[in-house]
Amino acid sequence: MKIMIGSVALELHQGDITRLAVDAIVNAANSRLAGGGGVDGAIHRAGGPAIMAECRAIGSCPTGGAVITTAGRLSARWVIHAVGPVYRDGKRGEPELLEGAYRASLQLAGEHGAKSIAFPSISTGVYGYPIEKAAPIALAAVERHLQEPSSLERVVFVLFSAADYSVYERLLAGIAAS
Ligand code: ADP
Repeated sequence: MKIMIGSVALELHQGDITRLAVDAIVNAANSRLAGGGGVDGAIHRAGGPAIMAECRAIGSCPTGGAVITTAGRLSARWVIHAVGPVYRDGKRGEPELLEGAYRASLQLAGEHGAKSIAFPSISTGVYGYPIEKAAPIALAAVERHLQEPSSLERVVFVLFSAADYSVYERLLAGIAAS
């Protein structure tokens, strides 16, 4: 599915984010940038050890922030390591921290002149953020970013499961109709 926000394409894909041909791939990282399972494991496996070497040199990233590295063997130019919150009850600043992770990623992409970026569903795997709550935050962060001039021409959300894809599909249909 694809809609336009002004002149920027907002797209949904189902599948493996490491296969996407975009300038910047966003990783759902942890604050120690230590690597892990899920999308983080897939990105480091596909991109090779150069990405982890850069992560080690950077050291860490606070929750709600993001850091950028090159992308090793991936076809992307950069990996943006975004650190979303662990979800507990939604009353411990989780929405603001999740929004911050998306906002920081978009800002880094803009600063580097990226024309395209692909996001996974940050925090909704091992970190337990309910996708119905997380997806509107992700989309609002993108909509807000695109209200200002940006290098981005294409923003892609990559959902691993059909269920996650349909949550985003419903929300995008709402944006397109508004
Ligand atoms: P977090 O710790 O931030 O919750 P996870 O990696 O556990 O991060 O999960 C985030 C989302 O990424 C989940 O929806 C998961 O299904 C999805 N995911 C896992 N592997 C991939 C992949 N290769 N490409 C895209 N999304 C993926």
